[in-house]
Amino acid sequence: MKIVYRRSRQEMPARGAEIHHAEEEGIEFFLLTNPTRFMGDEKGRLTGMECLRMELGEPDASGRRRPIAIQGSEFQLETDLVIVAVGSGANPLLTQSTPDMQLNQWGYIVADPETGKTSKKGVWAGGDIVTGAATVILAMGAGRKAADSIHQYLTWGW
Ligand SMILES: Cc1cc2nc3c(=O)[nH]c(=O)nc-3n(C[C@H](O)[C@H](O)[C@H](O)COP(=O)(O)OP(=O)(O)OC[C@H]3O[C@@H](n4cnc5c(N)ncnc54)[C@H](O)[C@@H]3O)c2cc1C
Repeated sequence: MKIVYRRSRQEMPARGAEIHHAEEEGIEFFLLTNPTRFMGDEKGRLTGMECLRMELGEPDASGRRRPIAIQGSEFQLETDLVIVAVGSGANPLLTQSTPDMQLNQWGYIVADPETGKTSKKGVWAGGDIVTGAATVILAMGAGRKAADSIHQYLTWGW
């Protein structure tokens, strides 16, 4: 198994122990490497991925050094499976089809932190769709608060 990452180990957004364990398990890291296209066979099945070598320039808005492509450094990796993991965000399917539910500027649902109530009557929200990428324990806590609030609603009304 291989991990392709366009910056260097120093900029990796993962805990040092996780990187270390991945290496111990034999995962090969292609650092300063950026995928540019996938290749397939005549049946449309994935056969490989083309990558470019990168170098680090000046820091960008995130404070991390900006990766810059090294022209002409293309090479190909053979593969029949790729998992694209480039950050996380709200799945817009539900929120875009519910225009009367208030969202924040990042597309996450606005909910009362104490009850989980949203701006739409009878709808509660909690977890990553409210906080953005966070933790299991926060999502579970929000679920408990929402369950209490739903119980109140069913007993006493909104
Ligand atoms: C790589 C990675 C590692 C992590 N490691 C940790 C860790 O070590 N410890 C920790 O505490 N947290 C960790 N997290 C964060 C943790 O996974 C999340 O905070 C947590 O799962 C949030 O729970 P949730 O119920 O809010 O959302 P999710 O677990 O994302 O559940 C949302 C569910 O809704 C479903 N869904 C989405 N849209 C629709 C729709 N329109 N209709 C029906 N279903 C829909 C999704 O398929 C999903 O099953 C990690 C996250 C990632 C990505």
